[in-house]
Amino acid sequence: MTNAKLPRGFTTAILHSDRDAAIEHGALHKPLHLSVAYGYRDARELAAVFQGKTQGYVYGRQGNPTTAALEAKVNAMEEGVATVCFGTGMAAIGAAMLALLKAGDHVVSSQFLFGNTNSLFGTLSGLGIGVALVDATDVGEVEKALTPATRLVFVETIANPRTQIADLARIGDLCRARGIVYVVDNTMTSPWLFRPKSVGASLVVNALTKYIGGHGNALAGSLTDTGLYDWTGYPNIADSYKTQKPALWGITQIRKKGLRDWGATLTPEQAHHIAVGAETLALRMDRQCANAQALAEYLAAHAKVRAVHYPGLAAHPQHALARERFRAYGALFAFELAPDIDCFDFLNRLGIVVSSSNLGDNRTLAIPVAHTIFWEAGAERRAAMGIADSLIRVSVGIEDRDDLLADFAQALAG
Ligand SMILES: *Cc1c(COP(=O)(O)O)cnc(C)c1O
Repeated sequence: MTNAKLPRGFTTAILHSDRDAAIEHGALHKPLHLSVAYGYRDARELAAVFQGKTQGYVYGRQGNPTTAALEAKVNAMEEGVATVCFGTGMAAIGAAMLALLKAGDHVVSSQFLFGNTNSLFGTLSGLGIGVALVDATDVGEVEKALTPATRLVFVETIANPRTQIADLARIGDLCRARGIVYVVDNTMTSPWLFRPKSVGASLVVNALTKYIGGHGNALAGSLTDTGLYDWTGYPNIADSYKTQKPALWGITQIRKKGLRDWGATLTPEQAHHIAVGAETLALRMDRQCANAQALAEYLAAHAKVRAVHYPGLAAHPQHALARERFRAYGALFAFELAPDIDCFDFLNRLGIVVSSSNLGDNRTLAIPVAHTIFWEAGAERRAAMGIADSLIRVSVGIEDRDDLLADFAQALAG
């Protein structure tokens, strides 16, 4: 038996969270439940589950015990009231938008966004939702963009690839004062480095694919309601979801209209992979952040490097904000090579570091940003976002630090 009275730190809590519920045969991992449907001996009980009067499972698209165990883990990590998991991080973001917004509503977000999220906002504007993308490192720019129809502000903690950091706490204050839903994508920091609830976030996004999974072998995403937003003031909640306590109105609508109706369900197998990864999140991230700091400092002092963008460097524009709010400065940085070095030749000389588009993997991955993930954006937008042709994004892994330093040294010398 677990003793709920014992104090629990972050890693202890994740490791033992499955055992907080009755777990079959005393298994230490929540088992894989592969059944799509659930049978009830008493048909009245089935009806009660459908009507939300009893907790239970009906059909795998809406929920599954294995996925629910992962939801409980993520919810504990983010100190939320409820969490819903999805098949990918993008599915989580898309579900939040489609469940909560209507034509005529307005959203404010950042100019410096994960590329696919930026593309999704383009789709939303085609559906009649107003979208303003502003410099979210400055709360004044966010405030100027608000209109009476603004329902939601969406920001990321650390932007990819240039590592700009949103004015997280001030935007939180602004949203609270105006009754606007504040959505924070915590993927780049993860709940180990930062809890968006501490700056007033209403909803927290995690692409579990990245640091929380860590192994790079499963896609998943989550949305956590922190309980800070008063859903009684939100105009788009359907009456049928107002039967429970108001703190659950938003997440219920997200589970029904976002997950059930759009169907981007996380499979139990993938939920299990992510849950195993989550156990070591804190250990991995501490090492990844220390490796990133060492590499960023090395490159910043190197004659063949023109610029390094990493919140852990004193010259970073939001270094003080990062120091104040985050446990560490993250495991991702970007740098520009001196003009006479071809970025493809440089990447090909790296022996350990892999040319790959993922981030948050245990392995160190590097990508020439302008030629890949921001190619579709076009030269003009890249210039506006400060993405130089030679910019290389590095997602730092858990390798031995000296091996990484040696790999960059030989590739720069070559
Ligand atoms: C990767 C990523 C996503 C999307 O997650 P997927 O699981 O790949 O769909 C969303 N936001 C950020 C900041 C990301 O890095």
